[in-house]
Amino acid sequence: MTSFPVIDPATGEQVDEHAGHSRAEVDAALDDATRAQSSWKRVSFSARAEVLRNAAGLLRERKDALAERMAVEMGKPLAQGRAEAEKCAWVCEHYAEEAAAYLSGRPIDTDARRSRVAYRPLGVVLAVMPWNYPLWQVFRFAAPALMAGNAGILKHASNVPGCALDIEAILHDAGLPPELFRSLLVHHDEVPHILDHPGVVAATLTGSERAGRSIAAEAGKRLLPTVLELGGSDPYVILEDADIEAAAEACAAGRLLNSGQSCIAAKRMIAVDEVYDAFLEAFVAAMRRRTLGDPRAEGTDIGPQARADLRDALHRQVEATVDAGARCVLGGEIPDRPGAWYPATVLSDVPEDAPGAREEVFGPAASLFRARDEADALRLANDTPFGLGAAVFTEDLARGERIATEELDAGCCFVNSFVKSDPRLPFGGIGISGYGRELSAEGIRAFVNAKTVYVA
Ligand code: NAP
Repeated sequence: MTSFPVIDPATGEQVDEHAGHSRAEVDAALDDATRAQSSWKRVSFSARAEVLRNAAGLLRERKDALAERMAVEMGKPLAQGRAEAEKCAWVCEHYAEEAAAYLSGRPIDTDARRSRVAYRPLGVVLAVMPWNYPLWQVFRFAAPALMAGNAGILKHASNVPGCALDIEAILHDAGLPPELFRSLLVHHDEVPHILDHPGVVAATLTGSERAGRSIAAEAGKRLLPTVLELGGSDPYVILEDADIEAAAEACAAGRLLNSGQSCIAAKRMIAVDEVYDAFLEAFVAAMRRRTLGDPRAEGTDIGPQARADLRDALHRQVEATVDAGARCVLGGEIPDRPGAWYPATVLSDVPEDAPGAREEVFGPAASLFRARDEADALRLANDTPFGLGAAVFTEDLARGERIATEELDAGCCFVNSFVKSDPRLPFGGIGISGYGRELSAEGIRAFVNAKTVYVA
């Protein structure tokens, strides 16, 4: 039987182990979910909402234990873990409140007596999720999927098995019929088998481009719809009229979200020549202010990276970017201690073809680029196959809004702020950052049948 060891990334030591699910258990869970969904789809929005509100209450009640679990499984600092649990409660309450309106359908005038759109659930949806926001990524899928009348099967990342089981327990304790949401402890090579089950009608994956291509191909063979939330290399443009201190602070906060391991982290800082040096100085100071330390200690801003292999890959990217001509002005050295540690790192004057420019850098290492002017900055910003988030900093809000709306090629474009998700706003990317949207009305409509009803 497969097992799922838990390695504490702060020490590199194994601290726990969970038994995986067998093929027979997987098949039974899929059969049960299929059966349970055929009743759940007839349950009223208000009854579903009660379950989601209970789940929100449990998330708040258990937030200390959940934060502790995330700290030990993937190194998230405790305060950030508690905030993540709160945000999950928010998304549950948001969909409990809004799902009925989002899915109320609408009459459309035609030559029929009556014609309208009705949104109906699809069935069992498979969610393949990453370790970086081990609660949030799951709840932002589960809350709308369950409110829409679907069932959910979670295949969580292999390094967060305890989080996967905690999520299942919260939903079951909230009163959800247990068959409607199951966490299956399986490795990703089991995904094609799960997609083969006749009850599974769609899949969503948050993770790397490689995993996205793989699940899209497997789902494609079965003609199943997918939503993909993949990586990003988000550009942050700092214009000559920006508040430099505020921009530097927002860029550092955005780069160091989740110890740098966020798909929507600020990854490429592009400052126009006039303010490049002032921005660099303020940005390095802001990055330096963040404390690297024990994720269980209050006051820690940056914990260890989630896994040693990912930390090593990050360091190789930093070294290759320096070899390509960038200057390392902060960090860049692996600390001499056990565990998956990496410090806040700043690479300046990064060449356009360096790995720090072309690849996603998933850790606390920022790349800075010098642009001649606004047009050159926007050219650099859009010169990427990714398209998840982007930001622009300027004191001229009309200019900023125009650039965000018309110029930046990304799914989520912010002015004078780092990019963040919000249950009320759609979230997702373009290009190799994926397709489809989560959150808001768009998110809940991702896994429904937008059915035309026509009464002659
Ligand atoms: P990953 O290796 O792609 O893993 C993510 C999930 O996909 C895990 O559950 C993993 O299972 C599974 N998986 C891996 N290969 C697969 C395959 N061939 N077929 C089906 N499933 C597969 O990514 P990661 O390194 O854990 O996470 C970091 C990446 O995720 C970054 O690129 C980041 O930008 C992206 N991400 C994107 C978002 C977003 O919202 N756009 C949010 C968070 C993270 P195993 O653990 O069993 O391998």
